[in-house]
Amino acid sequence: MDAPPPAPGRMPPNPPTPDPLVALREENARLQAELERHSRALRVQEALFAISEVANSGRPTREVLSELHRIVGTLMYAENFFITRWNPAGRRLRFVYFADSAAPDSIETGVEFEEAELPGSLTLEVIRRGRPLRGPSRALARSLGIEATAGPESHDWLGVPISGPDGPSGAVVVQSYDPAIGYGPEEEQLLVYVAEHIGTALERHEGKRALEERVQQRTEALRAEVLERQRAERLQAALYRITALASRHEREEDEPRFYAEVHGIVGELIDARNFYIALWDEERDEISFPYSVDEKNPARPPRHAGRGLTEHVIHTGEPLLVSDATARGLQAAGVIQRSGTPAMWWMGAPMKIDDQPVGVIAVQSYRHDVGYTPRDLELLGFVATHIATAIGRRRAALALRTAYLELERRVAERTRELALANESLRQQISAREGVERQLKHQALHDSLTGLPNRQYLLDRLVAAMSQHAAQPERLFAVLFLDLDRFKVINDSEGHLVGDALLREAARRIGECVRSPDTLARLGGDEFAVLLERIRNIEDAIHVAERIMQVLDRPFFVEGRELHSSASVGIAMVQPHYHSAEEILRDADAAMYRAKADGRKRFALFDENLRQVAQQRLELERELRHGLVDAQFIPYYQPIVSLGNGAVLGYETLLRWRRADGEVLAPGAFLGLAEETGLIEEIDWRMYACALHDLTRIVPRHAYVTVNLSPRHLLAPDFAGRFLELVEAQRALPSRICVEVTEGALIDRKDVARAALETLHRAGVRIVLDDFGTGYSALSYLQHFPLHGLKIDRSFASTLEGGGRGGSRPIIRAIVAMANSLELEVVGEGIETEEQRQALWTLGVRQGQGYHFGRPAPLEHWLAQSTADAT
Ligand code: C2E
Ligand code: CA
Ligand code: CA
Repeated sequence: MDAPPPAPGRMPPNPPTPDPLVALREENARLQAELERHSRALRVQEALFAISEVANSGRPTREVLSELHRIVGTLMYAENFFITRWNPAGRRLRFVYFADSAAPDSIETGVEFEEAELPGSLTLEVIRRGRPLRGPSRALARSLGIEATAGPESHDWLGVPISGPDGPSGAVVVQSYDPAIGYGPEEEQLLVYVAEHIGTALERHEGKRALEERVQQRTEALRAEVLERQRAERLQAALYRITALASRHEREEDEPRFYAEVHGIVGELIDARNFYIALWDEERDEISFPYSVDEKNPARPPRHAGRGLTEHVIHTGEPLLVSDATARGLQAAGVIQRSGTPAMWWMGAPMKIDDQPVGVIAVQSYRHDVGYTPRDLELLGFVATHIATAIGRRRAALALRTAYLELERRVAERTRELALANESLRQQISAREGVERQLKHQALHDSLTGLPNRQYLLDRLVAAMSQHAAQPERLFAVLFLDLDRFKVINDSEGHLVGDALLREAARRIGECVRSPDTLARLGGDEFAVLLERIRNIEDAIHVAERIMQVLDRPFFVEGRELHSSASVGIAMVQPHYHSAEEILRDADAAMYRAKADGRKRFALFDENLRQVAQQRLELERELRHGLVDAQFIPYYQPIVSLGNGAVLGYETLLRWRRADGEVLAPGAFLGLAEETGLIEEIDWRMYACALHDLTRIVPRHAYVTVNLSPRHLLAPDFAGRFLELVEAQRALPSRICVEVTEGALIDRKDVARAALETLHRAGVRIVLDDFGTGYSALSYLQHFPLHGLKIDRSFASTLEGGGRGGSRPIIRAIVAMANSLELEVVGEGIETEEQRQALWTLGVRQGQGYHFGRPAPLEHWLAQSTADAT
């Protein structure tokens, strides 16, 4: 309170003498307060220091937050305390820490709440307004004009914003339910100060965590990439080694070691503690296991093919990966039959020779925690291809040796026969008159079996036809039959055995027919039966089935047990037949159908077959006309640099421009052209055009590739003729490239190699077409003078959708192999930018496909380059 003013005109009274005790007391109180302030300031300092220390401690967030809580508790009453974070973009609130004595579990931390989910929230008000709010919660809400519904009512409530770069980034709140405890301006000021520090501390902490996470993610990605690369390298190295192994162990007796070493290599790539190689003997339909290592099944004796997973892979010709559950499903569906200890995981890939499955390579795991992925399967498939190539090569060598032995044996036999010849000559002279009779018989009979021959049968057919013409109800049918696998038996067992087999077969067929039917041998292993006086087609089928039955029984010849069977074609007499040959030809066609359908069956020659046969004849006729009328023309497709799109060359692609203007791609006629041999003539036409066009093509240095029918490589004069053409057209050999497929190199490998060597020496380039679809064995690349290879277009099509899957690992391996052999690689069938990019990333530098241009006549490309130039 102020002192009263002095009265005017009066002397002010003397000031009272200060009481020293009072002064001392006041001084004491002042010092006390000062001390208090200092110690509070010290506590605050300590607290702030503690806050920043805990924020940088790297401890888990939960610990950091509860430590912050403890520190605030040293400064004020903070039993009820929470921290929130505000996401201004999404307008959401998150409680990062929450402690409340009245409602301990009312809030879940970490969950983001929409504004609307928190009606009447004082905390939101603090954030919205960006300033502290303090007071009893109900009164506070009322003064702000909101209805306080969030949380229990508190006696005193204090919230302050945490400031962020774009306005409040959260709030810190303390509250009291105890009427004895409240908050004043001092606490408010303190909390503002602390909130500031909590904000920086949290940000720093969160930032650190986020950084650590990013580093972690990046590290994992890098690790995965390194693993992927290592995997590709390992795969490539493994394939190299398998190829090398195969050539090291070419003899039969090396087989066990070869398999064991292959097992070792596979084991480095995948878990292969249970591993086996199964081979399928198609003739006996038997599975044998030349190599097997297994924890549960110590021995794998050979077995008759049943319905195991191995057989399943052989029959489908597709690699297979199954878990225990899938295998059980397959078993329940009756697809397979399991035996032995069931594996938790099983994976097998077919080994194929000439596209025919010859066996399976399989791994399995009896443990839940050791499984396989589709990529492992892909890898196993690759290994299987290489092993199959090795087996094929070994078998071919073996067959050659057997053939030599057989030849020697036959020479010996022939010598013996000659010795007997003199004797037989004497006998023949004495039986002179018998000879003439026999000759007559021979003209109409087959010397081996004594059966009528083709001529005899045709005579009978003519007679049957004229009878039918006179009496149409007199039906007849022709059965054309062929012994399955006779050639194999004949080649492997020798002609003596083959002949005996034929005689026995003839005898058995003879049992199935009755007079006046005619059984004839047409040559080789082909027989025909003329069935006269049948009532309907069923009668003919019945006889066919009987014949198949008797031929299905084993043959015992020269002390050996042999198995054969028959495929039968049936043709019934029809009004449209004009000649005996026609009927026989149709029965023959039906027999081919039976064989194609899987042998050991019969097929009827029906309208469909007739039409197909007729269409083929028609097409063949048209092909010949097409040649005469120069209807075969080249289309060109650019081969470009995948980097900048520059044209490097063109592939010549055959087109048939028919008289009506329609242009056909080879798919429609190539098969027949190959079969009939017409392709050779067509190709020569194509080569002449392409070499001629070489002078007109732009850019001037571009090369031209031509496709080679496999037939050419078997013709001994092919290379010479080709080079003559090159010279006649004055074409530069280095601008010419021939494309061959692996199929063309497979039979008569040496002849093919000689032809390619000649071309290569003259400077013509050679590339392997459609690489990756056939054997893809390294040995091919090494054995032939190749300049490059074209990755088959089926690979490009799997490169959609980014990522690492599809054929990427295989392409990567192919590119690596090609690089190490210094071969150029061209990617085919590139249809999209994405595919181009993917191939480029995988190291492929050249390519062709619709993305760069569809095949078109030369004029099209010339016009385009002129257009580009202007
Ligand atoms: P190929 O040698 O593999 O030729 C590539 C084939 O892929 C061509 O089919 C071409 O038109 C097609 N192609 C090109 N780019 C793409 C693409 O982006 N996507 C797709 N889906 N396909 C694309 P075409 O012209 O029908 O020829 C088919 C096959 O006929 C050739 O396959 C080749 O084996 C054979 N052929 C073509 N011309 C001749 C020839 O003059 N002589 C011989 N003997 N065979 C030929
Ligand atoms: Ca080609
Ligand atoms: Ca190709």
